[in-house]
Parts: sequence; C-alpha cells; structure tokens
Amino acid sequence: MPIVAGQDRSREVKVLAGQVRVLVNTIETAAAAAANRARERGADEAQVARAAEQARARAVQRMSRAVDRGAACAGMDTEDFFPISGHATRARMEAADALAVCEACQVRARCLALAVLTPAGRYGIWGGLVEGEIRQLRAALAAEGVAG
Ligand code: SF4
Repeated sequence: MPIVAGQDRSREVKVLAGQVRVLVNTIETAAAAAANRARERGADEAQVARAAEQARARAVQRMSRAVDRGAACAGMDTEDFFPISGHATRARMEAADALAVCEACQVRARCLALAVLTPAGRYGIWGGLVEGEIRQLRAALAAEGVAG
C-alpha cells in the first residue's frame, strides 16, 4: 500500500469529505423536492415528512446498489475491513491491505457517504477510512447541518 502521510493524507480526506458533502446534499435536495411535491398535492405535515423520508431511503438504496456494483472489495474477506483497534493510526496499520484496495476503488466516495448515512457505517472500513476517521467526518458534517 502506498503510504499516504501527513499533509497528503489530510488533503485526501478533505477531498473525500467534499465529495461526500455533495452526495449527501444531492439526497437532501431529492428529499426536499419530494416533500414539496407532497405539499402541492395537499398532503398534511406527517405525509410530507414521510414523502421526504421515502425519497431519502430510495436514494440511499440506489447509492448502495451502485457501491455493490463497483466495489473493488467484492468477493474479498470482509474480516479484513474490520480492524480490531479503535485507534485510527493503529487501525490503519492493521488494515493496510484492505485500505490499499479502497484507494483504487471507483465508488469510494459513495461508499463513504453510505457510512455517514447508514447505521452500518458505524463499524469497519468504508471509503478507505477507519471508524475513528468516519466518526470525525460524520461529526463535522453534522456540525455543518449536512448529515446527522
Ligand atoms: S471503498 Fe473500500 S470498502 Fe468501499 S466499496 Fe470500495 S473497496 Fe469496498
């Protein structure tokens, strides 16, 4: 695995975070559009909220299917993607081989977006980030009001 250290690593995470931000915003835009359509049809607020939730769920499902289709880790032992250490640096060393696969994965940003958007994303490696890094990203996006 090529060692991506220091500044390069934080630049890489920043770029990924930007891509995840765009993906999550796209989903929120679709949810808002669905809510507006429901409102225009005369739906009450509970129905409007439900329409938005359904649109969100459909978008996440589509994203999940795209990740399944493009995953570079397809067929690999999933255990490699669940380092034991909760410490980010140690987890990255432990899972170096799995992370190298993520680096070349075409659906990396979408995979990471799923980690931010779904409960399953609380565990393991997603989008080339380990749990502690994903937690930080989720918190940063939540602080911006992007996800949470
Ligand atoms: S980014 Fe990594 S974990 Fe996600 S689909 Fe690609 S190879 Fe698998």
